[in-house]
Amino acid sequence: MGKYYQPEIETASRERILEIQNEKIVRQVRHVYENVPYYRNLMEQRGLTPDDIRGVEDIHKLPFLSKADLRDAYPYGLLGTDLKNCVRIQSTSGTTGKRVVAFYTQHDIDLWEDCCARAIVAAGGTNEDVVQVCYGYGLFTGGAGLHGGSHKVGCLTLPMSSGNTERQIQFMMDLGSTILCCTPSYAAYIGESLAESGYKPEDNKLKAGIFGAEPWTEEMRQEIQKSLGIRAYDIYGLTETSGPGVAFECEEQAGMHINEDHFYVEVIDPDTGEVLPDGEKGELVFTSLDKEAFPLLRYRTKDICVLNRKPCSCGRTHVRMSKPMGRTDDMMIIRGVNVFPSQIEAVLLKEGYTPNYQIVLDRVKHTDTFDIYVEVNPDQFSDLLSQIQMMERNLEGALRTMLGISPKVHLVAPKTIARSEGKAVRVVDKRKLHD
Ligand code: ADP
Ligand code: ZN
Repeated sequence: MGKYYQPEIETASRERILEIQNEKIVRQVRHVYENVPYYRNLMEQRGLTPDDIRGVEDIHKLPFLSKADLRDAYPYGLLGTDLKNCVRIQSTSGTTGKRVVAFYTQHDIDLWEDCCARAIVAAGGTNEDVVQVCYGYGLFTGGAGLHGGSHKVGCLTLPMSSGNTERQIQFMMDLGSTILCCTPSYAAYIGESLAESGYKPEDNKLKAGIFGAEPWTEEMRQEIQKSLGIRAYDIYGLTETSGPGVAFECEEQAGMHINEDHFYVEVIDPDTGEVLPDGEKGELVFTSLDKEAFPLLRYRTKDICVLNRKPCSCGRTHVRMSKPMGRTDDMMIIRGVNVFPSQIEAVLLKEGYTPNYQIVLDRVKHTDTFDIYVEVNPDQFSDLLSQIQMMERNLEGALRTMLGISPKVHLVAPKTIARSEGKAVRVVDKRKLHD
């Protein structure tokens, strides 16, 4: 197998990609208009008919969809085909508390698994690899997506699901897993557990990891690459657009190629809805160009990032998105200042701390309190008792410089912050209790 899973499309000329998108959007808008009354109403409110959309340059005329629409239309209101044509349901992990149910025809599953297969091949996967999938299986899209992609590439697939870390390690070592797929926080935990079991990074056969489903920093990548002795690649997606594989990293590790033959991407100003020029930071909006069962047009993801259209040395021609720096609903407003957990994580790792931390917000006498609990490394632990205060003050200083606001830092002993097997819970916001 070569460097690409679907070379003719992954390296197609920009003209060809545009041609494919134009052809697909015209068909897709008609499909949605005819089959999804909820969206037809939205179009009619704007005086639009399918004839108004002649190519992707007309997409900006279409109404947005958001999580609120998904809630209103739950469960079948956005279904684009008869249920009898559907073969699968998946659901969001509910990070924001509201579950979304997505439907798939066999065609939709195929295109989703193709996207994941592209990601696996981009990470160096071939039919000689052993892929250990420890994303959660079940309703969550992580397990199913990478599992399907791994089959398509012809890898030997280990459907571990998440959790039971001891067994993960045993299978990894006994069966010689070469590619690990899970959330980055779980990858960090597996790395930590391997070291505790006495393994060095070079003792495992892993060569690459495909990690996503939650935000992670460049610093976290370095940490995971070191502890597992691998190259760590990012993968992005959301249940609403099918699951992981909407975008994936190549060997450059510099942004994720968006599968533009299936998803048309826009970046908008989250406040005004205005489409922003390339290179500006804003909210990602995806239009699924060929999904049948859950064909969302202009879906607002709430994820904040930047697009990069510079050619990539890997030969793929699809636009790259930066790591999402958080979601608009991930952003904390603390004493009036906008703070993302990813900014905090970057500082912690740069200052030599572990990626195990928890942010606790509360409100005391009408003022926000902002506490960060940070685990120290075992080798820092001995210094801790004599130097704890100085270390805490230094870290507070580094965080203040990054955030423009002072947290109170509490260094805590190794192993005291709960580990995550799926998406990590970084923020505990108690302020709402007082509202
Ligand atoms: P939920 O919204 O309940 O978490 P999903 O499980 O579908 O539902 O998760 C999708 C979300 O996960 C994305 O909108 C994004 O915020 C986050 N996400 C997925 N992949 C990544 C990634 N590689 N980097 C950062 N965030 C990611
Ligand atoms: Zn590339």
